[in-house]
Amino acid sequence: MLSLLNFFKWFRYICRAFLYLITVITDVRRAGKISKGTQFHTISKTIINDEHSIQEVKEENEKHPYRSLSDFEEKCPPGGEDSVVFYTTSLRGIRKTFDDCRNIRFLLDGFKILVRERDVSMDMEFREELWKIWGGRVIPPKLFIKGRYIGGAAEVFRLQEQGKLKKLLEGIPSNCMCTDCGNVRFLVCSNCNGSRKVFAEKEGDELCMKCLDCNENGLVKCPV
Ligand SMILES: [Zn+2]
Ligand SMILES: [Zn+2]
Repeated sequence: MLSLLNFFKWFRYICRAFLYLITVITDVRRAGKISKGTQFHTISKTIINDEHSIQEVKEENEKHPYRSLSDFEEKCPPGGEDSVVFYTTSLRGIRKTFDDCRNIRFLLDGFKILVRERDVSMDMEFREELWKIWGGRVIPPKLFIKGRYIGGAAEVFRLQEQGKLKKLLEGIPSNCMCTDCGNVRFLVCSNCNGSRKVFAEKEGDELCMKCLDCNENGLVKCPV
């Protein structure tokens, strides 16, 4: 049984290597026929993606020939008609999700544009909002530009590799630091100081009540 599994494992490797070799040969041949610029392009494509073969990357390109925003599915988060909305999480629960969110945020930061970041771990309302747009349970990261759903980590990084992300972000205003929250988008509730409890006096007794101003984490959304 074990040797059979081993055989399949090696068989897969050999097939992959063979396929890779064929695609490289075809590409080098084609590049030779066309200009030097194209040759460089083909080679750079091979380097970009070591997880997938050139063939796979090409098929992906054909499958997703995105040129403009109208090629993307219309899904508009509240207030996202003319802006970038990015659903993210700062919970480290699932390593991959956390890393994906951090990497996209880092990528978006590089464009120095205004991003409406909605951290689902900071506010349940954001999570419900995302599920509502999605029509079911889904986890971040999810990126929306001007009311169109762009994708999760894989799609966003593919678009960046293809040099298409910058074009999709055209016309988005540049970012500036919020003086109230430092772009954290949340402030500690001033009613309860983040404790989620408020005290009231009733007929000489001190009552402890739930604060109605803030969310489950004792935070309020930055009004700016
Ligand atoms: Zn703010
Ligand atoms: Zn509060």
